[in-house]
Amino acid sequence: MDRIRDPRPELEFLTPYDAKDIKADVVLASNEHPDNIPGEILEWFAERLPRFPFNRYPDPTAKELRKLVAEANGLDAENILVGNGGDELIFDILLAWGGPGRKLLDMPPTFAMYGIDAQVTGTEVVSIQRKADFAVDEEAVIARLSEGDIDIVMIAHPNNPTGNISPETFLIDVLNTTDALVLVDEAYFEFSRHTMRPHMERHPNLVILRTFSKAFSLAGMRVGYILGQESVIREIMKVRQPYSVNAFSQWVATKVFRERVVFQSEIRELMRERDRLLHGLEELQGVESFPTEANFVLFKVEQAGALWRDLLHSHSVLIRDFSRVPGLEDCLRVTVGSTEENTRFLEAMRDILTQRRQAQIMTNGAHARHGSAGELGY
Ligand SMILES: *Cc1c(COP(=O)(O)O)cnc(C)c1O
Repeated sequence: MDRIRDPRPELEFLTPYDAKDIKADVVLASNEHPDNIPGEILEWFAERLPRFPFNRYPDPTAKELRKLVAEANGLDAENILVGNGGDELIFDILLAWGGPGRKLLDMPPTFAMYGIDAQVTGTEVVSIQRKADFAVDEEAVIARLSEGDIDIVMIAHPNNPTGNISPETFLIDVLNTTDALVLVDEAYFEFSRHTMRPHMERHPNLVILRTFSKAFSLAGMRVGYILGQESVIREIMKVRQPYSVNAFSQWVATKVFRERVVFQSEIRELMRERDRLLHGLEELQGVESFPTEANFVLFKVEQAGALWRDLLHSHSVLIRDFSRVPGLEDCLRVTVGSTEENTRFLEAMRDILTQRRQAQIMTNGAHARHGSAGELGY
């Protein structure tokens, strides 16, 4: 054959995810933790590494980690499912509860993977745009859910990239209104401390997502988990890849979860740094930052795309550009990094904005001189 049969026609409308591999001295683009896991834990692994069974398949259900997560949340191991990052679990949920003829309720601007995975699984996306302040349009969501045809709801809590949380009363309204599977994505739980966990008993359709990628310094290991009813977990297990969470990642995540108290002081330090970032941004003319419950700050600035490029090319500071996303015009997101990184970011911002103002004064000045000269008849 000299040709290839076409793939699924839906793929025509998709583009591969482009995790732009841009190099920079200061990387504040993906909400990662600024530090590697603590040295004592690294040494613990180093000592045991020679005896690690690389030749063996992993435990398909990550029994040890499941048990630990269950205990920490007052649940049974059967209520937990571990995935290859939270991303895989979002995909698995759409495989199990979505698909052709089924509908996801999405509340953009929000985490893009919900919509992307819905498309890949042939799930119809029903979008209810957030308001200008990024609050969910609660009335519209409840009204839409009341129609009774939504199969899945996904809501990031706090929301990424906007940083805000929805009132718990609204989330309870959602759970009371629909029998759809409701995923409350608590990827930033360790920072926000807000959780819907207490509502699981009363609402069997509630599923909670968490991850090791943000507060626990393990973005590279790809480990996340969901909390849910045993019956829900069992259904999702039917569609998942049995060995998706590799043995090494399970080993690392299990140890990190056991030692999680060690991370508490770092998390508090990051929250102090977040406040410093917010204050620093507030002092900059022409920058509007939005309230945040997570380890990142969304802010709005004129000509955001150009500012993003200046940060990268003149200061080697990489943040995330959302300025072309509908509803996020002129918005950029910066992750809370180390003290030095945050300082470098703020200094770079100050530099760029000062230069901009000077350039403006020059052109305005030139116009003014020109104008007055005209009036005087020169
Ligand atoms: C980071 C993130 C996740 C999951 O990330 P993983 O690295 O795949 O665990 C899920 N939801 C939101 C909103 C996130 O920001």
